[in-house]
Amino acid sequence: MTEVRVRIAPSPSGNLHIGTARTALFNYLFAKKNNGKFVLRIEDTDAERTSQEYIDNIFDSLKALGLNWDEGPDIGGPYGPYTQSERFDIYPKYVQELLDKGFAYECFCTPEELEAEKQEAAQNKKPYVYTKKCENLTEEEKEKLRAEGRKPAVRFNISKAQKAFHDSSMLYFDDLVKGQLHMNTDLLGDFVIMKSNGSPTYNFAVVIDDMLMKISHVIRGEDHISNTFKQILIFEALGAEVPRFGHLGMILAPDRSKLSKRHGATAVSEFVEKGYLTEALLNFVALLGWSPSDGQEIKSVDEIAQDFRIGDLSSSNSIFEYDKLNWMNSHYIKMLDIADLKERLKPYLTKYNLSELSDAQYTRMVEITREPLTLLSDITDAVPYFFGKDVEIDPKAQADVLDTDVSQDVLKEFVNRAENWEFTEENLHEKLEEFRAYYKEKGIKPKVTMWAVRAAVTGRTCGADMTAILAILGKETSLYRVKKAIK
Ligand code: GLU
Repeated sequence: MTEVRVRIAPSPSGNLHIGTARTALFNYLFAKKNNGKFVLRIEDTDAERTSQEYIDNIFDSLKALGLNWDEGPDIGGPYGPYTQSERFDIYPKYVQELLDKGFAYECFCTPEELEAEKQEAAQNKKPYVYTKKCENLTEEEKEKLRAEGRKPAVRFNISKAQKAFHDSSMLYFDDLVKGQLHMNTDLLGDFVIMKSNGSPTYNFAVVIDDMLMKISHVIRGEDHISNTFKQILIFEALGAEVPRFGHLGMILAPDRSKLSKRHGATAVSEFVEKGYLTEALLNFVALLGWSPSDGQEIKSVDEIAQDFRIGDLSSSNSIFEYDKLNWMNSHYIKMLDIADLKERLKPYLTKYNLSELSDAQYTRMVEITREPLTLLSDITDAVPYFFGKDVEIDPKAQADVLDTDVSQDVLKEFVNRAENWEFTEENLHEKLEEFRAYYKEKGIKPKVTMWAVRAAVTGRTCGADMTAILAILGKETSLYRVKKAIK
């Protein structure tokens, strides 16, 4: 195969998982690095677990991450359709081919009979593999079973394929990430490739699709390794070229268990709702298995693409450190261009009437409040005092600051003076300097003076630059709040 063609093949039984986003990213990077194509295929053969909502979520999440595909369900391509449920008429031909070549056989066993086989294996403490009971049924026997009303499933004949293409029952392949892997395929058991209702199973449909879509490299999670042995044998049985495989280590939670909801967000859309930047998410997941050659961890996707080599991916598991992601997100927020940040914060400011602020005031508000943001959503609780005439006073600010005699004196003096001030930042800077100096002479620390003003105007004991806050709020609102705080 000359052209590099990779794919991401999510099953829409949930929102796009952060682990699938990592798999998508590594496939995308591999395609980019090799001038190849990145294909999106929706594997919705399991109709009961599939929903349109999840399909939309997969599309939206990948797009939000900027992992745009070259071929896929929505944009088509030369080897479509790219949704498995629209490909059901393609599969029977290949089932027939395997039946004709003797690499597959019809199985008439009922679920009850199979269950009994499993029970027996369990009693004998043996791992269950199908007994091949139906492997050599004669035409008459099959007719009889059909007449009983039984509908056959089709099973792949593992040992037959293994014998046809390999010297022993050991199957080897060179994994792009993990090196050489092997398995005794006697342990796999003849698995169903087409159910009795005519629908293909994952291990079969995936091979037919990868073959017809000319996929050259399959990069996915290591939970698929045992499937890979099955899939290689099907490729061989069909006389198709076997793609190269690369299996990524798993992503584990900090407690080393499987990453799940109880650890925090797991779907890309949840992270985005919480206020993570997609750039930070991508940079973070890239580091779950890949390390930059220069040790510089903060990198854009384009920079990662330049440095990316599939052989450098780590074959071991990675730990999903939420703290590191948070650190990275705050870093990305700090680096964002102000105009961009202003836009990205808007979804988290819907509870306020943003039109109360001019564009210049909004810009200044963002400039002075961005520093401590870890998540974009942190802005919601950081800025309530920029809106409305009244402000909610925090009980601590009331008790520790506003209720003291010193503060009450400071606030009265503030009102006296500020009536004549011009509320520009430049002017306020100078006037507040004089104001603090006046109290300093009386033995009151500048920060105590400013606490009183801050508590009255913002209702809080700490926060953004006070001069800028007063300038944004303007004289009227600032004085109204200070007067209100005076007893
Ligand atoms: N639909 C499979 C999954 O979501 C895809 C596995 C593969 O990449 O082959 O796990």
